[in-house]
Amino acid sequence: MPLVGCDDRGVDDHQTSPFLLSAAHRRFLSEAREVAGERFTSVRGGASDGRVNRRLIAELADCGLLPRLFPAAAGGSREGTVSALDLCLLREGIAQESTEAETALALQGLGGYPILQSGSPATVKRWIPEVAQGRAVPAFALTEPNAGSDAASLELTAEPDGDGYRLTGQKKWISNAPEADVYVVFARTTAGAGARGVTAFVVEGDAPGLSGQALDLVSHHPIGAIELEGVAVSRDSVLGEVDGGFRVAMGTLDLFRPSVGAFAVGMAQAALDAAAEHARSRRAFDKELREFQAVSHQLAEMATRTEAARLLVYAAATAYDRGERVTKASAMAKLFATEAAQFVVDAAIQIHGASGLQKGHLLEHLYRDVRATRIYEGTSEIQREIIARELYR
Ligand SMILES: Cc1cc2nc3c(=O)[nH]c(=O)nc-3n(C[C@H](O)[C@H](O)[C@H](O)COP(=O)(O)OP(=O)(O)OC[C@H]3O[C@@H](n4cnc5c(N)ncnc54)[C@H](O)[C@@H]3O)c2cc1C
Repeated sequence: MPLVGCDDRGVDDHQTSPFLLSAAHRRFLSEAREVAGERFTSVRGGASDGRVNRRLIAELADCGLLPRLFPAAAGGSREGTVSALDLCLLREGIAQESTEAETALALQGLGGYPILQSGSPATVKRWIPEVAQGRAVPAFALTEPNAGSDAASLELTAEPDGDGYRLTGQKKWISNAPEADVYVVFARTTAGAGARGVTAFVVEGDAPGLSGQALDLVSHHPIGAIELEGVAVSRDSVLGEVDGGFRVAMGTLDLFRPSVGAFAVGMAQAALDAAAEHARSRRAFDKELREFQAVSHQLAEMATRTEAARLLVYAAATAYDRGERVTKASAMAKLFATEAAQFVVDAAIQIHGASGLQKGHLLEHLYRDVRATRIYEGTSEIQREIIARELYR
């Protein structure tokens, strides 16, 4: 599938950067958006209460979007694992219609991929078809009350116990907790070894000794904290190697980081479209708003930043799919796209005046949802750290 310099630029779609996308990829993007638009309309108002929405996850499977994340051999519908570019296109397309559906889909991927990439055949068989078909909800549990950006300092311990381990400690700000059916828990197996002493485990959501509570955010993101009190896990529940848990985490985060940027691009595009429409239909001082240069130039700035973000995201994803080293490209894509989306959503509200702040308005919803993307999967400051370090490699 050609990704650069495609030969069918006659396909007219102002939103989809024909420079980088083939016609097949553009169709994939518009199909994702179309299906999401038909089935998920929560972004247009009436979002859920920030708990896991199992009906929506089942619907994501039923309409065929969720299975596209996973290989047919493991209960999904694609040949092989998802490409980073397809993941980005899915997230961008769905985000333009429903941030809730987008987030639910992304979290099935974030929690499912460490198992798919590093689980034993039995573990993959037990969980991935269920996750791919929306019948099981996974969670990726890395962050702790005292270990966020500095994840290598995590303290939840895994003590050897007979043939397996006992896990003790806390995780906080875990998407889908405490309702997840399965957690990928990152635990310390070697004291004082930093990132080299962490192991990833699969833990069932109803394991004895595991409890938790939901946390409320400004957005409707399902999230919570869990506590593990001597939770027993078998040797087979280890993902990858003992003390190799950071490789498991990074394997998934490398794939998902550009796609956080794609989520942001989808939100920015939705905000830009709303602002452009409002500037055409709203009149003041006997003119359409767009006739004021202050407004039209702001729209131009919003469109330019959105498109630049999209190009960085597609470029990072394409490089990932080619097997290139993407540390800097992914960090740039995530940083730029999430910061751009925050700017665009805020500017769209300004162009709307008071109506953009009304509860239930698309922009009120986007304003709440866009904020967290600058924090999770590496804050903007951490992305700048990574980029700066890469400059001197
Ligand atoms: C909506 C949402 C969903 C999430 N989902 C998950 C999940 O599913 N699984 C999971 O494990 N975690 C999840 N998280 C947690 C997220 O990954 C952490 O919040 C993030 O890594 C930042 O950690 P922290 O909140 O502890 O902030 P801290 O690490 O305490 O950072 C606070 C501030 O200090 C800055 N800072 C820290 N270190 C440096 C440095 N070296 N240089 C410059 N500045 C620095 C940060 O950029 C930030 O501005 C989620 C968070 C949110 C908001």
